[in-house]
Parts: sequence; C-alpha cells; structure tokens
Amino acid sequence: MTFKELGLAEPILKALQTEGYTHPTPIQEQAIPILLKGKDLLGVAQTGTGKTAAFGIPILHHLYEGISLSQNKRKIKALVITPTRELAIQISESFTAYGRYTGLRNTVIFGGVKQGKQVNALRAGVDILVATPGRLLDLMNQGFITFRDLEFVVLDEADQMLDMGFIHDIKKIIAKLPPKRQSLFFSATMPKDIVDLSRKMLGDFEQVTIKPEQPTAEKVEQGVYFVSKKNKPKLLVHILEERPEDSVLVFSRTKHGANKIVKKLDQAGIRSAAIHGNKSQTARQKALGDFKDGKLKVLVATDIAARGIDVEELSLVVNYDLPNVSETYVHRIGRTGRASASGIALSFCDVEEKPYLRDIEKLIKQEVPRLPEHQFVDDGEEEETEPERQPQQRNRPSPNKNSNRNRPQAGNSNFRGKNNRNQNSRRNSPGGPAKTDR
Ligand code: AMP
Repeated sequence: MTFKELGLAEPILKALQTEGYTHPTPIQEQAIPILLKGKDLLGVAQTGTGKTAAFGIPILHHLYEGISLSQNKRKIKALVITPTRELAIQISESFTAYGRYTGLRNTVIFGGVKQGKQVNALRAGVDILVATPGRLLDLMNQGFITFRDLEFVVLDEADQMLDMGFIHDIKKIIAKLPPKRQSLFFSATMPKDIVDLSRKMLGDFEQVTIKPEQPTAEKVEQGVYFVSKKNKPKLLVHILEERPEDSVLVFSRTKHGANKIVKKLDQAGIRSAAIHGNKSQTARQKALGDFKDGKLKVLVATDIAARGIDVEELSLVVNYDLPNVSETYVHRIGRTGRASASGIALSFCDVEEKPYLRDIEKLIKQEVPRLPEHQFVDDGEEEETEPERQPQQRNRPSPNKNSNRNRPQAGNSNFRGKNNRNQNSRRNSPGGPAKTDR
C-alpha cells in the first residue's frame, strides 16, 4: 500500500514525499482509512509507531478539502492534547511538515513559559492547536480559546496523562468541546480508567491496536555492568571517551541525579546537558535541539522528559540507574534501534538495583547479558553477596569458558555490538579496556 492509494490530497502527498516517506506504517495503513471515513478512533499504540502522522495526515486532509467551503479560516478546527512539552512541540513540527503545502496553520501551547507569545499566535488565528492540558485549560479559562468551530479532537498518550495527574483537566476540557466532532484517542496501554475515559470521549469508534516493536528483540543489543554506585561516573566517562562520535542518551531516575551526572562529565571534560522537569523550557529545547542536530553528543534525561523523544541516529542508551518499573526499561532501550538502525543499550546495576534487574528480566523474558569485565569493578564499597560476582575479576580468564557462551563479547566496557560478537581475544587485556575500531 502507498500513500497515494489511501486517496490523500495532492499537497499532502507532496509533503510526504518531501519527508521521504514512501509507505505508510501499519498504524497509518489501518487508521487513515477509518479517519478519512469520518469515524472515531481508539488507537492502542505508542510513540515510535508513526501515530502522529496516522492522526495528523487525515486531519490535514479533511481540513484542506474543506478550506474553499469554509467561512472559518484560522479558527481552531482541530485540537491535539498531549502530556509533555516535548511531545507537543514534536507534534506541532509534524503538522507543519505534513501540512507545508496546504496553507493550514498550527500552533503549540504548553506551560512553563510566559503565555504572551502563545496568546499572540492564537490571536493571529490558527487552524490546528497542539496543547498540553494545564496551559490549555488556563488559556481557555482566560477566554483566549474557544472551540465553537472545532471538528477534530485528539487525545494523545492518554495513559501518561493519567500517570501525570491530568485526568481532571482532561475531563474539564472534554466537557467544553462541541458534541459534534470526530474524536481520536491514543494510549499505549488500556487500564480500566483509560477504557472508561475513552468511552466518555468517543462516539461510534473503530479500534486499531499496534503492538510496539519488541525493542528487546533483535535490534537492540543489551548488556549490564555490575558496578558500585561510587564507580558509575568513572565507568560512564570511560564508555563515552571510547565513543566520542556517538550520540548517547543517558537515563537517570531522578532530576538531581541527572544534574550530578552532567557535573561529573563536565569535570571529565565531556560536554553534556540534562533535560528534566526542573529545567526551563528554553534550556530543554536548546539541549534537545543540539542533541538532535548532533552538536551535543550526550544528553542526560529523566524518564518523563525523555518519553516520546524521537532522535534519529541514537546509537547508545545508557541506563545509569536501573528503573524500578520494568516497563520503563523497555521504553528506555526502545529509544535506540529505531527504524532500521541497530542500537545498543547498556545498564549500570549496583547492589541495590539487583532486584530491579531481576524484575526486568522477568518482563522481557530473557537474561540481560552480563558485561563482567571493566576497570571499575566493585571495590569493596558494597558487599559482594551475589555469586555471579565471583568470576568477575579483572584480567583473569573466566574459570568456566562455557559460562560466557551466551554473553555478548563485550570484552570490557568496550561493548562492540553485533558485528563484533566474536572478537573475544582482547577481553582480558591488561591495562584496562582495549580500543575498538569504532
Ligand atoms: P511517531 O510515532 O509519530 O513519533 O513517529 C515516529 C517516527 O517515524 C518519526 O520520526 C516520524 O517522522 C517517522 N515516520 C512516521 N511515519 C513514517 C513513514 N510512513 N515512513 C517513514 N517514517 C515515518
């Protein structure tokens, strides 16, 4: 199936061509015909499946087809509500890209910045509004936004909205929307609260379920280092120094932790930036922009800030802390290995995090390969209680060769990924990790 066969308007086809999209993704192939028919949609899918275009393209198509008839040019006719600023900006950019030849205008509003510019953009008139719930409700209450002309509403990442405590805001917003509209509802998971909310919002709907590509399979090469808390910064510096050309996303469980990592890297002469909820919007956007452009090689993020971030060419994800919610691990490592790229995800696990690792392995139904040898093995700071620690001494061959049979041949911290799986000869080279050809 091609986009042309979906019967889309010419300017949209042209824009998709400009974007380099040749074929619709599975969610686009299924959702676009439903939406072109005018039906409501329940999409069980997450970021990375192409869902933004799955809802953006048919909305642009309908609006474009209606332009000549409509008296309501530059009135808000489509509303997209999404939980985070980063997602909101990405969605707005997608509308701009897919709609570049349609003459339709969109704008984005979110909290954490002054409202003046956003209000001005609204006053100038827009066809499509992308918003986070808090700022949206705020500007609605101040009278800057009305939905008299609204035809389409999209609720994106509904389960995350719920997690972030936006449910009451959402209900208030939905109550203000005109009843005659086409509604789209997207969520990665469908717990009971979300099912209830979707029933409130949707009329006669069809459902599309896209299972996320299993990020733990095939594409993402994983490995875990057992390392003391104290030695985590040194191990990170070491890994980064070996891959100066790679774009690396480092995950930290907490905002404070993310700041500390940036500081430690700075002390080691490695430039990085953190993105999390305490950073100003400008700082977050700058860091993300530089990272996407390749000007900044290392980005340190908390889970909420990083969710949905779409960075091409991300070669390595480092879990500096293991997440205590196993699903988060899957989300994190799914940041790399997108599209056809193969990615690597390395995790640091200290003694306290071992239960998290066990939970993760239960969820993904596989053992995360151990990367036992690095220069920064536990140095007695933490008790060695686990049996698997025993053979992990530096510069000594494993007493049982078979015990490493299923491990990636990382050698040392110099994880080389799939193509170098059998290059095991330098594993125990004295003087620390061998240099790679990367
Ligand atoms: P999303 O799930 O909407 O965040 O999209 C994930 C990524 O896939 C984005 O970088 C999109 O630009 C890209 N994408 C979406 N649709 C297509 C397509 N049909 N062909 C190629 N790339 C796509």
